[in-house]
Amino acid sequence: MSKNYITGFPRIGEQRELKKVLEQFWAGKCPFVEVEKTASILKKRHWNYQKDAGIDYIASNDFSLYDNMLDTAIMLGAIPKRFELLKEEELYFAMARGNKDAVAMEMTKWFNTNYHYIVPELSLADNYALNAKKILSEYKEAKALGINTKINLIGPVTFLGLSKRVDRGDTYELFSKILPVYEALLEEIADLDEEIVVQMDEPVFVKDVEPKVLSLIKPCYDRLAKVSDNIKIAVTTYFEHSNEASKVLVHTPVWAIGLDLLYGEKNFESLERIANSGKKLIAGVVDGRNIWKNDIIKTIGLLEKTARVVPKENLIVSSSCSLLHTPFTLQYEEKMDDEIKNWLSYAVEKLDEIALVTKLFFEGEEKLSGSEKMLYVQNIAANRSRKNSTRIHNDKVQRRVQGLTKLQREGAYEERIKIQKALLGYDDLATTTIGSFPQTPELRKVRADYKKSLISSDVYEAEMKKYIDECVAFQEEVGLEVLVHGEPERNDMVEYFGEQLDGYGFSQNGWVQSYGSRCVKPPFIYGDISRPEPMTVDWITYAQSKTSKIMKGMLTGPVTILNWSFVRDDKPRDEVAKQIAIAISDEIDDLQNAGIKIIQVDEAAFKEGYPLRTENIAEYEQWAVDNFRLSVSTAKKETQIHTHMCYSEFNDIIKTIEAMDADVISIETARSGNELLKIFKEVGYKQEVGPGVYDIHSPRIPSVEEIVEQIEKLLEVLPKEQLWINPDCGLKTRKWEEVKPSLIHMVKAVQIVREKLKGNSK
Ligand code: GLN
Ligand code: ZN
Repeated sequence: MSKNYITGFPRIGEQRELKKVLEQFWAGKCPFVEVEKTASILKKRHWNYQKDAGIDYIASNDFSLYDNMLDTAIMLGAIPKRFELLKEEELYFAMARGNKDAVAMEMTKWFNTNYHYIVPELSLADNYALNAKKILSEYKEAKALGINTKINLIGPVTFLGLSKRVDRGDTYELFSKILPVYEALLEEIADLDEEIVVQMDEPVFVKDVEPKVLSLIKPCYDRLAKVSDNIKIAVTTYFEHSNEASKVLVHTPVWAIGLDLLYGEKNFESLERIANSGKKLIAGVVDGRNIWKNDIIKTIGLLEKTARVVPKENLIVSSSCSLLHTPFTLQYEEKMDDEIKNWLSYAVEKLDEIALVTKLFFEGEEKLSGSEKMLYVQNIAANRSRKNSTRIHNDKVQRRVQGLTKLQREGAYEERIKIQKALLGYDDLATTTIGSFPQTPELRKVRADYKKSLISSDVYEAEMKKYIDECVAFQEEVGLEVLVHGEPERNDMVEYFGEQLDGYGFSQNGWVQSYGSRCVKPPFIYGDISRPEPMTVDWITYAQSKTSKIMKGMLTGPVTILNWSFVRDDKPRDEVAKQIAIAISDEIDDLQNAGIKIIQVDEAAFKEGYPLRTENIAEYEQWAVDNFRLSVSTAKKETQIHTHMCYSEFNDIIKTIEAMDADVISIETARSGNELLKIFKEVGYKQEVGPGVYDIHSPRIPSVEEIVEQIEKLLEVLPKEQLWINPDCGLKTRKWEEVKPSLIHMVKAVQIVREKLKGNSK
């Protein structure tokens, strides 16, 4: 009897082999066969990992050279017109990355993960036709290695839900056009083997499900399940509960329903229905989104709770979602402290955990083999060590969190801004930047050399100071009013702070695919967070010493730090956030005591953390606002607090932004005129706003006239007293040749607008 299951496995390779070969190929340095060769090696390796671990349902078609949504578009023949003439890999990568004639397809975040998928472009005029090549050949490839796989597909409802219509209108209108293609696909799959499991990923079911979507589920799965008797369909959801969909799915002939029992605890409400339907339950109980060793005793408890409702023979043990969102294997973590490493588990290790959980749950401890028994004992010991380690607990920090009384800064905004304006004396339409300046290859090399101890700290410091000197001199020359130090010492806005905080860990090889060939290596929070020393004060005060203008200090906020890290799972998230917020608040106090008058606390990932379901939004917003306010609670009335967010859709969250109570917020509106700013006026937003006046994501240099026009548009919405003028994000990805003229143009444009305004008021 088959008892365990993997939703999906990562594919970039444990040494990022796929990334490397793809980038070689894109650079014209190797032929496509090399990519295919690497892909085969990886697929084989990953299947064998699953097989060797004792996983019954091993995934195929979870592999992709770029992205599974893109693969699905190709499978359906949903090719946007501008790529029509291309074929094979040229077509595929042009859709993903663009080419000289055509812009790439849009990319967006996969639910609340940091993975990004390609957004298919659909139109009523399209004619879809099946291209099953990849799916069939991957199955055969595994079969030839002696491995029978289940086939992973993105389900039709999710495919439509995540696509966009280029001819306006609703993507779900295309349901009747794509369903026959899926049917045709299943017919071909049916010929592959005597019996085949097809996993239909339907994660859109975990969002607020509209009635229109709900009404498609039954016709969809009634029809697909009818295609062939030898296909068993498993409909899988993850990241949240999908109770509305489960209610319907139990009345279709699908074979199994896959639920996330960790991030979608509410799924328990559906268990009775599933039990009554006699369907299999694929129980997502081993966390596919974090890096912690599974607490096996706890997981067995969860399965036993499940088995009280769903008969044991209908249960299949699984990961909570695809392991795509975890790094590969601990094997290459050579530098990590042994104690900490022993608390972790990446994808390969999670396979063993799932196998062990399965054995324990179905057969009991007595049936474990010698090596399994050892794994079990080690697991218990590791979890105990993590619970009791002195490295995790810091009484002082815990006492501070418990004893918190000052949760927000003093003074209402109206009072503060008066004091600040008198003290800081900046003009209307004050100019500034978001923080970072170009990260040149030389700069990266200095940081890398320092990390590898190839240069001394004196040399490193001298190099950083040289950059700051030049950066400050440049900003003075351009005529900017509020300056920044340029962030030369920072590799990444979260990692930089993580490295200086106790309780933070870093991996050598903990890469997780972000999109295409790109990977990120999030730091992880394993213990109570404290700040042994000031983190930015030396650099900022040095920069301030180089100018008589105001130097803006630059920090990352607690919500962003948390959202971009793997977070410990043994403490409530709120408590972890509070610890970080306290560390930031101490830093703010040190900065202001050192004479820094403006401090920006970036919350680039504030919106990313939004829950998938509306029912949870209010709680998240409260949490995020509270922690931001706590992080700036030490700021004196005269210290001006800025924040920055990297997006522009504020309509739904404007009240939350207001509640953060920053004195100034800079945002990304450059690409949409003043439309997005209107909401600030509508709600009577009082605080100051710096809507980016040009788009830093493009190498294009904006003209003076263009920026004048943009500023004038902003002035139609908000008064000059409330506006700051700045680019729409940090400048680190741009080149100096682009940044220099752009900022000169920006300052010039402000001068022109100010003159005009003076003229008008005469
Ligand atoms: N201060 C950071 C920078 O300028 C902000 C980055 C961001 O918004 N993502 O790079
Ligand atoms: Zn930004």
